[in-house]
Amino acid sequence: MDLHEYQAKERFRAAGIPVPPGEVATTAAEAEKIAKKYGGAVVVKAQVHSGGRGKAGGVKLAKDADEARAHAEKILGMDIKGLTVEKVLVTPAEDIATEAYLGVLVDRAKQAPTFIASAAGGIDIETVAKETPEKVRYLTVDPRYGLLPHQAQWIANFLYDDPGLIKQTTRIVAQLYDAFRDSGASMAEINPLITTPNGEVKAIDAKMSIDDNELFRRPDVSEMRDTSSEPEAETRAREAGLSYVKLDGNVGCCVNGAGLAMATMDLVKYYGGDPANFLDIGGSSNPDKVVAALEIITSDPHVKAILFNIFGGITRCDDVANGIVTATRRIDIDVPIVIRLTGTNEKEALEILKGAGFSAYTSMDEVVEEAVRLAGATAARSA
Ligand code: GDP
Ligand code: MN
Repeated sequence: MDLHEYQAKERFRAAGIPVPPGEVATTAAEAEKIAKKYGGAVVVKAQVHSGGRGKAGGVKLAKDADEARAHAEKILGMDIKGLTVEKVLVTPAEDIATEAYLGVLVDRAKQAPTFIASAAGGIDIETVAKETPEKVRYLTVDPRYGLLPHQAQWIANFLYDDPGLIKQTTRIVAQLYDAFRDSGASMAEINPLITTPNGEVKAIDAKMSIDDNELFRRPDVSEMRDTSSEPEAETRAREAGLSYVKLDGNVGCCVNGAGLAMATMDLVKYYGGDPANFLDIGGSSNPDKVVAALEIITSDPHVKAILFNIFGGITRCDDVANGIVTATRRIDIDVPIVIRLTGTNEKEALEILKGAGFSAYTSMDEVVEEAVRLAGATAARSA
């Protein structure tokens, strides 16, 4: 789950990181009022879950409240990478001397939190890392000990030469680690971490992603979820207890078990197709879950064929078959569906499905090949 900048800043502030004040507005009039309260120049910032807002015109400096209103009018409702801006953050403008990058994320390969720091901040860190790798430093934290004081100092020393800046930054590095750990984050980032002309270090942008598996024990973080800014299909899937990730292909996949779902996607590619999604319906034969899965898959207009791949173990194939039949009777689907079921009670399941007019298979290769072929044929017909 991604947090908005204003939410990540709340977490940062709570950890003690110096962050300028700010308030959220949903109308231009509100933005003007907030700007008036602060007086002087402010920055109006789109609150969307997307990087590169600045480049897209979603971050604008305003010299006074009138200009803040005008900027908010333009930014609210703006489309940034497919997301509509519904809120703006209004925050007093800072005088900037330098911009650095400071982030911490869970490095999956190292299985540990890893800090990333660069004095070349403000811009896209991936570009800096690629084009000028010598300007980036990494530091892995052993989760058994947490971030050690000398490690925070080492990062601060890499970023700055001035003792005053180093002292403030050492503290900020430790506070960022606290915010990251205490929020159950998979990523926390300050870009840019600025220095002001009078020698202060501050975070003027904030980004944070929370590990979904951490949410159940952190209701204060969990309630920050903004469903209006995530794809509708993902909200539905979460509410239905399905794990779903949208992809760009045209073969809708509905599979029980995450491992089998991954293998199915690989096989779709092997046969020259492209999966439209990852979807694990879990061990359930509950028709409601199958209905939800089908509604989510078919809400993607790119889907040209639907592939079920079910491996029956404790889950009985005939139960799942009944679930699929019930579900497809409840909703209208105008793309072909092919189904593979194998394992416990597969014979009974195949009878049920064939009786209801479905193409049913026991071979994974055959069904995937057929799904890819059908998706191609449907796509050609509708082109
Ligand atoms: P992003 O583009 O979504 O990462 O948004 P940021 O909040 O990082 O802002 C982008 C850039 O706008 C920063 O790197 C700064 O150069 C500039 N900027 C943002 N806030 C301020 C501010 O308060 N004062 C000044 N002078 N520039 C700012
Ligand atoms: Mn930024």
